[in-house]
Amino acid sequence: MDDTIFDKIIRKEIPAKIAYEDNKFIAINDVNPQAPLHLLIIPKENIPTLNDASDSHKQLLGEMLLLAKNLAKHFGVDEKGYRLVLNVNDDGGQTVFHLHLHLLGGREFGWPPG
Ligand code: 5GP
Repeated sequence: MDDTIFDKIIRKEIPAKIAYEDNKFIAINDVNPQAPLHLLIIPKENIPTLNDASDSHKQLLGEMLLLAKNLAKHFGVDEKGYRLVLNVNDDGGQTVFHLHLHLLGGREFGWPPG
């Protein structure tokens, strides 16, 4: 299993601004934010990409979405709205190969994305 920057953050070997943590997830502020609120919701289990998820991850993936919803409410962007992004592999723009969900809020996002 490849060790990524997120594995090092999970192990507290590299600092990050932690917005939330429990035994299954850590949510950190993105170092290069694309919106006033830009969190990365990271399962602690190292699943490299969504392509590597299986039926055994159903509960974890559901919990990740519910955590995103709860964090959006906690940070006050739920009413106006927010965007969730999950990049997969190179064409999807994935740069860190440890599954993570971007939670972006605090500004308006266009559609289709640029
Ligand atoms: P991806 O492109 O893989 O979907 O998203 C990776 C994200 O991780 C990028 O938005 C990038 O800014 C962020 N990132 C990369 N390295 C670090 C780091 O060391 N700390 C934090 N907090 N974010 C990082």
